[in-house]
Amino acid sequence: MTLQYILFDLDNTLYSARYGLELNVGRRIADYLAAYLGVSPEEAIRQRQERIHCYGTTLEWLMAEKGFTDVEAYYAAIHPAGEADALSPDPGLRRFLEGLPLPRGILTNSPREHADRILAQLGIPDLFTHIFDIRWSGFTGKPHREVFLRALDILGTTPETTLFIDDTPRCVTGYCALGGKGVLLDEADAYPGYPHPRIRTLQDIFSLIPV
Ligand SMILES: [Mg+2]
Repeated sequence: MTLQYILFDLDNTLYSARYGLELNVGRRIADYLAAYLGVSPEEAIRQRQERIHCYGTTLEWLMAEKGFTDVEAYYAAIHPAGEADALSPDPGLRRFLEGLPLPRGILTNSPREHADRILAQLGIPDLFTHIFDIRWSGFTGKPHREVFLRALDILGTTPETTLFIDDTPRCVTGYCALGGKGVLLDEADAYPGYPHPRIRTLQDIFSLIPV
């Protein structure tokens, strides 16, 4: 079936993991969890790792199992102003996106203010028809199937006609389980045995789009 749309993950997909933005987010999450749970950051992360397989995000786990409710305080703490300052306008990325023969959107487990900051820093805020963020998904997040299906419903496309690109294997696997065309962006060649399509750079998606 002909592709109609390309849905991108945001973090470590539209910019490289080498910038370390997500590592910094991870540190802030660990500190926030530690303060809320009253344990060390290491213990907080251990507790999360034990249960995160049931959830799309840390916040979802915190709300479901730890009685957490202050969503806005959480996001303000882990996504402070200036968090994207390491990024700068990326003309190559802009040319790549503009050269794609299909409309583009973003599906992220981050909040909208974070997405807006990243896209502004990269100089590409105007290149996407839709930005589906974690508030839009009701704090559920990828890889829950309803999140993908709701986004596609709004786009008027189907899993078969929508290419989805993400750097997190379980997100791509979740999308492929719906019959979707999912692709893993694996810039560090960390998942050589991954059972679904895998690319090393975004440019490689041209090999998956019939022109
Ligand atoms: Mg990502």
